[in-house]
Amino acid sequence: MIQTLHPDQIAAITSGTISLGKTPVEIKRISIDSRQVIDPAHTLFVALVGAKIDGAKFIPQLIKEGLTCFLVSENYAGTNAEVTWIRVADTRQALQQVAAFQRSLFQKPLIGITGSNGKTIVKEWLGQILAEHYSVAKSPKSYNSQVGVPLSVFGMESYHQVAVMEVGISKAGEMKALEKILKPQLGIFTNIGAAHDEGFPSRKEKIREKLQLFQDSEFLIYCRDQLELTEEIQSWIPLEKQIAWSDRAGADFTRSLKVQDQGARIILMKADLSTFTFFTQFADRASLENITHAIVGALTLGMPADLIQQGLTHLKPIEMRLSLKAGINDCMLIDDTYSNDLEGLRIALDFMKLQRKKRRKILILSDLLQQGPSEHWAPEVLRLIQAHEIDLVIGVGRELTVIGEHLDDKAQFFETTDSLLNWLKPEFFHQDLILVTGARAFGFESVINLLQQRIHGTVLEINLNALTHNFNFFKKRLNPQTKVMVMVKAFAYGGGAVEIANHLQSMGVDYLAVAYTDEGVTLRQHGIQLPIMVLNPLEESFHFLRQFDLEPVVFSLDFFQKLNLWAAEQHALLKIHLDFDTGMHRLGFEEEDMKALREQIIASKNLELASIYTHLVGADEQIHEEFSREQLEKFQQMKDILLQGLDKKPLIHALNSGGIIRFPEFQWDMVRLGIGLYGVEVTGGFDAELQSVSTLKTTVSQVKTLMPGETVGYSRKGLMENGGKIATLPIGYADGFDRRFSNGKGYVLIQGKKAAVVGNVCMDMVMVDVSGMEVKAGDEAIVYGEEISLKALAENIGTIPYELLTNISSRVKRVYYLD
Ligand SMILES: *Cc1c(COP(=O)(O)O)cnc(C)c1O
Repeated sequence: MIQTLHPDQIAAITSGTISLGKTPVEIKRISIDSRQVIDPAHTLFVALVGAKIDGAKFIPQLIKEGLTCFLVSENYAGTNAEVTWIRVADTRQALQQVAAFQRSLFQKPLIGITGSNGKTIVKEWLGQILAEHYSVAKSPKSYNSQVGVPLSVFGMESYHQVAVMEVGISKAGEMKALEKILKPQLGIFTNIGAAHDEGFPSRKEKIREKLQLFQDSEFLIYCRDQLELTEEIQSWIPLEKQIAWSDRAGADFTRSLKVQDQGARIILMKADLSTFTFFTQFADRASLENITHAIVGALTLGMPADLIQQGLTHLKPIEMRLSLKAGINDCMLIDDTYSNDLEGLRIALDFMKLQRKKRRKILILSDLLQQGPSEHWAPEVLRLIQAHEIDLVIGVGRELTVIGEHLDDKAQFFETTDSLLNWLKPEFFHQDLILVTGARAFGFESVINLLQQRIHGTVLEINLNALTHNFNFFKKRLNPQTKVMVMVKAFAYGGGAVEIANHLQSMGVDYLAVAYTDEGVTLRQHGIQLPIMVLNPLEESFHFLRQFDLEPVVFSLDFFQKLNLWAAEQHALLKIHLDFDTGMHRLGFEEEDMKALREQIIASKNLELASIYTHLVGADEQIHEEFSREQLEKFQQMKDILLQGLDKKPLIHALNSGGIIRFPEFQWDMVRLGIGLYGVEVTGGFDAELQSVSTLKTTVSQVKTLMPGETVGYSRKGLMENGGKIATLPIGYADGFDRRFSNGKGYVLIQGKKAAVVGNVCMDMVMVDVSGMEVKAGDEAIVYGEEISLKALAENIGTIPYELLTNISSRVKRVYYLD
């Protein structure tokens, strides 16, 4: 923060009512996430109300952890005279007001970036270029929302010389609040596209809304070749404020591009015919657009061209996401080789905190190059390391060593990455959680390479943010008190049970369910603590149920007896769930079992009734509407009969993903969410609202040119009548690429274009038709993902998305991302 604030000041800024606690202190930090507090005595906690969590819920715990100042809604009922309370009408608005105040104290240039695509990249690249010359504050990752922008502002410090902030909105009316906070002197409007069109009456309206960000800006940079955008800018922004670049003559900067083998030359000519020439190793259209925005931004700020070129030379493609991957020797690696500032470090450490416990927490980091001299950032880095209880710090760079003396034997320092690599041996690490984060110039990719498990060609990427988004989509459709059980059976629908369960645990899910006992055992062995229901526990596994605190489903009188007898012999107490068969005819009690079941329950001292459920056979399909309702009715009757005169209150549940959408009135105490969480909306009504969670990717191994009449693959099935070009991909039916995709039934996307399967899918490989495309070995091919609908693919081969997802073999490496 630029300036510490006294609680009285905060109350004045937010027009809140304040009741001061015993010893009010200066506020140095603001937190909205109870897990991220590192200097509790000087932190103000702002209780935001989100779709899934009310921040106020964490206040009692935070008081225990030493926080003494809270900004809460005026409806908040809690009291405690020891601590300071600031009560306001709207906590989010108050957060924005405090941010606007901090912003007003920053007297140096602030650049605001908005647009449909590329804003995070332009922000990062411009930030990197400016860092050759200035100390730069920039918003972390894609913190660009109503809450993200204020948090970005709190990352600004008085020593920063320039701030680069991105701004994103998704619906009408949002920009005003963000403009009030940021008031950028210089603006960049990257471009306009279809993203979030649904939130605005028209494309024009969307542009106008975004333009509000620049209403008081001195200059706005844009590309004049984007006609829709240009038209609006020319009607709303005075000409003297516009800085336009274009590939055609007559703009403030006329650009000519010379694309070469190893990159591109960008020549910018000003109206006075003075020219600047820059070279970049990027040559694709989108990157060149982003780079041009960044160059024009830096020139407008007055940065010398040779320093801009120096910055361009160091630019590397930006891996936007923090990722979690399997490391060597049973370690987990968090790869954050992309960010290199305090905010980025904070985010990465918070992500680390949410991961499963491992033997040690290890941090490998470099000097923070973009943050100026070490006295600016080193004390904070040290505080973060201490607050996060890092067991071992491995530092690279000269400046970082100053923190060494405070860490004793818990730290090891190297001057260069090479000297670290000379020292680093894989056998130093075993079952550790390792965060690798460093400035581009340190080339930490080589550290990651050494520590990660080899990934061959094919990976399944899991987007944890999308998982959270989908969870919230379903949660919003339910009553707030309804519990959610998430089905993580079958390796969490292919996504990887342990990591997904861990993420769900941190999101506040109530229950998990697996199909078999061993799946539950694996989760427990990896530190998952949520209650776990086992759908089909087999008799051989009874002792594991007890040992690992797993809750079996009981589905027949016979099974009840067996389990009860076993539990009595073992003096064990087990929680059980009852499955009622109302039409599935798979497992489950029948209506005529109810009386006998009640007696067994009354007589049992070792089995405790946790819940009763049934399962719908066609919740996703309209044609089964009537049958579903019959099932739900029958379930209601059966459970009423059972519970009559029984002094128990088990949880009642019936709905799966489709059911939540179609029969919310039958949500009872809990729902069982499955496929919807993983991004497939089975009823088809809300496809656009769910985000795709998994992307299956592979890379081209070889490209071949075939003559007319030649055939491809086994049994000569793939006849290339007119010849053409094929690419071989390292994925086959043993990886889960279904053999039914053979002979044109399936396809992959290469460079955004469909490439159809040629011939039969082999066990470990498949060939696709890339005739007429510029494809080479090493190019990426998307097998499933955002751009390829799992539903359509499944339909093509007469199956359902469930099967495609769960078939992805465990030999395909999973990588988890946070946007
Ligand atoms: C798999 C399963 C679910 C989840 O179903 P989805 O259609 O994936 O939401 C719910 N309940 C039971 C008993 C299941 O077996």
